[in-house]
Amino acid sequence: MDQQKIDRLRAEKIAPQTHLINGRHVPASDGGTMDVTSPIDGARLTTMARGTAEDMQAATAAARAAFEDGRWADQPPSARKNVMLKWADLIEANALELAVLGVRDNGTEIGMALKAEPGSAAGSIRYYAEALDKVYGEIAPTGHDVMGLIHKEPVGVVGAIIPWNFPLMIGAWKLGPALAMGNSVVLKPAETASLTLLRLVELAHEAGLPDGVLNVVTGEGAVVGEAMGLSMDIDVLAFTGSGATGRRLLEYAARSNLKRVYLELGGKSPNIVFADAPNLDEAAKVTAMGIFRNSGQVCVAGSRLLVDASIQDDFTAAVVKAAEALRVGDPLVLDNHIGAVHSERQLAQNLQFIETGVAEGGSLLTGGTRLLEDTGGTYMAPTVISDVQPQATLAQREVFGPVLAVSSFSDEAEAIAIANATDYGLAGAVWTANLSRAQRMVRAVRTGVMHVNTYGGADGTVPLGGVGQSGNGHDKSLHALDKYINLKTAWIKL
Ligand code: NAD
Repeated sequence: MDQQKIDRLRAEKIAPQTHLINGRHVPASDGGTMDVTSPIDGARLTTMARGTAEDMQAATAAARAAFEDGRWADQPPSARKNVMLKWADLIEANALELAVLGVRDNGTEIGMALKAEPGSAAGSIRYYAEALDKVYGEIAPTGHDVMGLIHKEPVGVVGAIIPWNFPLMIGAWKLGPALAMGNSVVLKPAETASLTLLRLVELAHEAGLPDGVLNVVTGEGAVVGEAMGLSMDIDVLAFTGSGATGRRLLEYAARSNLKRVYLELGGKSPNIVFADAPNLDEAAKVTAMGIFRNSGQVCVAGSRLLVDASIQDDFTAAVVKAAEALRVGDPLVLDNHIGAVHSERQLAQNLQFIETGVAEGGSLLTGGTRLLEDTGGTYMAPTVISDVQPQATLAQREVFGPVLAVSSFSDEAEAIAIANATDYGLAGAVWTANLSRAQRMVRAVRTGVMHVNTYGGADGTVPLGGVGQSGNGHDKSLHALDKYINLKTAWIKL
C-alpha cells in the first residue's frame, strides 16, 4: 500500500449523495439531506439524502417491477454470472478508492479496511457468481406413478439493512446470494456509513445490472428502515445490526406481510485460554487483536477473556502489554494499528460501560480513556478490565468498543458454564494443546463459530451466524443461498 496514494484519495472532494432508485440518482422526496461527518477529525465530508417513507415505497416498487418483468430473474444463469463477475472485477479495480472512502466515513484502520471491505466484497460477489449456475432443483424419490419435482425459485424482493462497521463486506454477504438467485434488492445502509455502498451499486450498474434490480435508499433507520420493514413489497428482510433493531423488524413483519426476517446480531464472545495453550505469547497477541481491531467494532470480537486461574496474572499482563503496543491514531496513516471509534455517541457509550464495569468491581488494567481529542476525531485507548464477574454488565452486555473483560476459571466445567452464561451465541475461541479438550469445548460452547488456537480469520467458504440472541440464518458460504430461495414442489401424475 502506498501512503501517497492514500493521501491523494483522502483529499478528494465527495459530491453530495442521493438515493439510487431504478438506476437513477434521486434526491429525497422532500429535499431533505443529512451531513456526513468523518470520525477521523470530525470534518463534514458531504451530504446525503435523508430518505422518507415515500422514497422507500418508490424503491420497493421499482424492485418489485424489475422482479415481476424478469429483467434479471429470467436471464440465463450464465448471463447473470457474467454481470456479477464483471462487478467483482470492478470492485477490485477500485479497491483502494473504495477503502479510503469507507475509512473517511467510518474510521476503520486502512490495512484492515482494504482487506475486509472491497477485498471481501469482491470475493463474495465472485463466489456467488460462480455458484449460481451450480444450483440445481431436485427429483424426489417417489413411486413410479408420480414425479415430485423440487424447484428452487427466487423469493422476490429482498430488503437488506446494513450496519456501519463493515458496510461493504456485510452488504456483499447479502447482495451476493440474493442477486445470484435472481432476486431484486433494496438496500438500506447505516445512516453514518452509506458512501461505499452507494459506490458499490454504481459499479453494479456499470457491470450491466439492469435498472431497478438493486436500489439504495439512505436515511434514518427509524424512518426508511421502518418503511422497509412494514413494506408489503418486501419478501425477505436480511439484517445485520443490534438486537433492539432486530426485535423491531420482527414486529414490522408481524404487522405487515409476515416477510421472512434473518437477523445477524451482536455477541459477547468468550475467548477461553487454558494453561496448556501451545504458545501463550502468541495467544496474548492474537487475543488483543481479536478484540481491539476496528476499535472493537466487530460483531465476532472476543470481548470476554476467560483465562485459566493458574496463568491469569501472567497471561493478562501479556495481553495488557500487547494492547499498549497498539498505536491508535489516524486510520489513513499506515503506521497506525487501530483507527477511530465510529462516532461520538459510540465513544461516550464505551466510556460509560467502563465506568459501570469499574463500579461493579472490575479492575482497570489499561486504557479507559479518550485519546487525541485535539484532532477532532473519536479515538480511544484499548482497554482491559479484569476481575469481571460473570453476571456483571461487562460480561453480559455487548460494548461494541475496544474493551476486554477478563474473568478466570478453575476447570473446564467452569469455563463452559461462564462461556454459556449470556443471552448471546455468536463466536468464541479455545486455546489448548489438548485435542480432545478442544473438541469438547467446540461442542459445549453455544455459538455459531468457534476458533481453536486462533481468533478471527475465516473466509467466505464458511457460514457466519449466531444462536440465541445473536440471531438466526447464516451469511457466507453456499448455505446463505437458502435465505434467498423458495422451494416449490411440482407433483406430477405420470
Ligand atoms: P443498529 O441496529 O442501530 O443499526 C443497524 C441498521 O439498522 C442501520 O442501517 C440502521 O439504520 C438500521 N435501523 C435502525 N433502526 C431501525 C428501525 N427502527 N427499523 C429498521 N432499520 C433500522 O446497529 P448498529 O449500531 O449500526 O450496528 C452495531 C450492531 O450490529 C452491533 O450490535 C453488532 O454486534 C451488530 N453486528 C452484527 C454482525 C453479525 O454479523 N452478527 C456484524 C456486524 C455488526
